[in-house]
Amino acid sequence: METMWFMDFVKSLFGIKKNNMINLILFGPPGSGKGTQATKLVEQFGLTHISTGDLFRYELGNNTPLGIQARTYMDKGELVPDSVTIAMLENKMNMTPNPKGYILDGFPRTIAQAEALDGILAGRDTQVTHLLALEVDDEEIVRRLLERGKTSGRADDANEEVIRKRIVEYLAKTSPVFAYYEKTGKSQKIEGIGSIDEIFARLSGALS
Ligand code: AMP
Repeated sequence: METMWFMDFVKSLFGIKKNNMINLILFGPPGSGKGTQATKLVEQFGLTHISTGDLFRYELGNNTPLGIQARTYMDKGELVPDSVTIAMLENKMNMTPNPKGYILDGFPRTIAQAEALDGILAGRDTQVTHLLALEVDDEEIVRRLLERGKTSGRADDANEEVIRKRIVEYLAKTSPVFAYYEKTGKSQKIEGIGSIDEIFARLSGALS
């Protein structure tokens, strides 16, 4: 045990991390294609995909107390409180031992979540390595989400007022997370318009 501590100490002196994980924050407004691209990136890079939106929808579908609590915010297009979201994320990470790395989709959505994430990853001797932000303009987002709402079964995709509220939340609370990671040179903008394969090529180029 003591030897392990000593080796970690020596590695930290030389800036060597215990692992070479890629921890990607796939960033961008709702409807920018994060989910679609995450699925392809998982295949290519073998990373563990965590979507907080999907986790909330799972809870909601099972009518758990967490799902019932989250629904009140999701149906209005508002963010679920940080404490609830961070605890759920950490819990999910604890359920995936020894991952090659994470693709975080829809998290962090506030500066408080970003700070919490940094702490959680530091506790695992790793860190956020990339934030790739898909850029799509507001009117294209509204168009895409209304289209998705015809088949997704998501109440928050079917109502234009809720979609616009989600965009407002994104601009006010989430977009500052880009600048937060830009300070350490991790943030990068990626054109989010084009075919799925074109956008995937841009993202994987930025990761390689
Ligand atoms: P998404 O599927 O990522 O568009 O998320 C759907 C909804 O789930 C959001 O509009 C929020 O109400 C909630 N949600 C998902 N992720 C988060 C998060 N990181 N922080 C707060 N709320 C979230």
